[in-house]
Amino acid sequence: MGKVRCELCPKYCEIDEGQSGDCRIRVNLDGKLVATTYGRPSAIHIDPIEKKPLNHFYPASRILSIATAGCNLHCSHCQNWQISQQDGTEVNKRYKASPEQIVKTAIKYNCPSIAYTYSDPVIFYEYVYDTSVIGHEKKLKNVLVTAGYMNPEPLKEIAPYIDAANVDLKGFTNEFYQKNCGATLKPVLDTLVLMKELGIWVEVTNLIIPTKNDDMATIRKMCKWIYDHLGADTPLHFSKFHPMYRVRNIPSTPVKTLENAQKEALNVGLHYAYVGNLFGHKGESTRCPTDGTLLIKRIGYKIIENNIKSGKCPTCSTKISGRWEV
Ligand SMILES: [Zn+2]
Repeated sequence: MGKVRCELCPKYCEIDEGQSGDCRIRVNLDGKLVATTYGRPSAIHIDPIEKKPLNHFYPASRILSIATAGCNLHCSHCQNWQISQQDGTEVNKRYKASPEQIVKTAIKYNCPSIAYTYSDPVIFYEYVYDTSVIGHEKKLKNVLVTAGYMNPEPLKEIAPYIDAANVDLKGFTNEFYQKNCGATLKPVLDTLVLMKELGIWVEVTNLIIPTKNDDMATIRKMCKWIYDHLGADTPLHFSKFHPMYRVRNIPSTPVKTLENAQKEALNVGLHYAYVGNLFGHKGESTRCPTDGTLLIKRIGYKIIENNIKSGKCPTCSTKISGRWEV
């Protein structure tokens, strides 16, 4: 029996009979490429959409979130490593749920959207695809929470069914990706640009890890790239790192670092920059880029007030980019 080649991500794994790709869950079974976690999520949760994080996509709505074991990246600082850095053995396929059942569950629990999240949806692509198609038939929205390390063809194929994405831009040097994530930077940037072109609502997250990717000059470059290639209206979330997995010797991100990064983003011209995992910080809230009116006040994942009226600032009528009414 020959090898099979997986074409979902830029790793292009050549997989021998009975073996898996780098993600641990896509295997060669009798010469066929099979995702062993199809219909077998390892996590199903209802989250506030702010947890994805998405701040400009139906705020205060609930989102049914599913994940399977495995990941095509291997970040030493992974914040979901119990799910992502597992293979598809029985113990990591906790539940059985067909795409139809996932959609029914979302409707039953009043979730207008489904998120494919925690690990990377790229590796459970077929499950995401089938669920998204049925979800759209039932008027649900589909959200990818991803590192964006995927090839353009599968993204183009699934894009008609995907409404929004939060892409984790993990750093802004290739060296960071190679050293810490087992990946490279360019395909992620290509994914971001392509998602925008395909009409997907995109928000970007950057987890700042002290000493690893907290260089302000590099952060400024990243902000400038987002401004130039994705546009000023692209929300950017700077997220606080917690020591985890193989990176336990580095302390949490100082508040000051997150505040400085947020300032850099605003200085570069981005309209919406946020701090994340900083409960109760004023940088969690949305302000009008024109006159500074407080538009959405957040504390953690909770919306305290939402003053946006028909997608506009109530004071100056500036259009606020995002998807506001379900
Ligand atoms: Zn305004």
